Amino acid sequence: MAHHKVMILGTGPAGLTAAIYAARANLEPLVVEGNEPGGQLTLTTEVENFPGFPDGILGPNLMENLRSQATRFGARFQDGWVTSVDLSRQPFTVTVNETETHETDTIIVSTGASAKLLEIPGESDMIGHGVSTCATCDGFFFRNKRIVVVGGGDSAMEEATYLTRFASELTIVHRRDTLRASKVMQDRARQNEKIRWALDTSPISVKSQNNQVHGLEVRDNKTGEIRIIETEGLFVSIGHRPNTEFLGGQLQLDPVGYILTHPRNSATSVKGVFACGDVMDPHYRQAVTAAGSGCRAAMDVEKYLEGAFVHDWSMALG
Ligand code: NAP
Repeated sequence: MAHHKVMILGTGPAGLTAAIYAARANLEPLVVEGNEPGGQLTLTTEVENFPGFPDGILGPNLMENLRSQATRFGARFQDGWVTSVDLSRQPFTVTVNETETHETDTIIVSTGASAKLLEIPGESDMIGHGVSTCATCDGFFFRNKRIVVVGGGDSAMEEATYLTRFASELTIVHRRDTLRASKVMQDRARQNEKIRWALDTSPISVKSQNNQVHGLEVRDNKTGEIRIIETEGLFVSIGHRPNTEFLGGQLQLDPVGYILTHPRNSATSVKGVFACGDVMDPHYRQAVTAAGSGCRAAMDVEKYLEGAFVHDWSMALG
């Protein structure tokens, strides 16, 4: 069985920054790509707020740059995703693609978060046939078609505004009458004449025929009235869920499933396992904060392997 000093699980900005730092510290990290190599930024277009790029940079290009930078210093990459880990004894074992097992002294978990679905009848069957969670990936397929975006947060406003480039008409469906989105994002959407609003409205089911979406059944939460909004496209933009299932309950998580880390460092409840990026951050979720946390995790690993890291989890729980 291959033995490593550190394995990094995931290749978003957190994992790749951890890989750059760990590789520069001569730890020869093995980085497991995950099922979405490059993470969520590969699903976006222009990234305008990553420091150092005054004219912006395309998400996939930024990730490619980070990957080349990590490779340059000796990080190794492995295809596939982690199906399970055994954290009960050291060295830990990490199983990739259900079959390949690795041994490692430390782990950096940077598996990120994935888009949530509404979990209503008809939805999951229609992914790729009218249902999408990524406007920048799929918007183009809905040129001159009707689109519904579900959600009331910044992502929903951003995606809806973007999708008006393609849509013949676009409706935002949100379950409450007030939006969660920041004022600037709300204002931008409200000023867009192509956007219609269905507030206080909950999705009930996705209607389809011949393997194509043709409507979203919704309930007006004030009157109880049920109706169908005719649409060819349904973009679900209701937030993300951390990718922590493969941990099998071996790390302490918050009630939603985010990994709990020490407030002053990146340690988790298990000595030798560190976490960074969206998998432990329900709040900021930015590429730059993820990258910063990846740097912290790699520096913590380096110290841990030198025997100089103090793991005081009791203090973490305060
Ligand atoms: P979010 O802020 O958690 O908003 C999720 C939205 O989906 C909420 O309006 C929520 O409704 C709704 N929702 C959740 N579950 C639902 C369900 N089962 N059925 C119907 N509606 C449901 O998530 P987000 O918009 O993805 O944003 C995540 C973070 O990224 C935020 O911190 C945000 O500020 C940030 N972000 C920033 C930008 C930007 O500044 N450019 C762009 C995108 C995201 P309720 O409001 O009723 O809970």
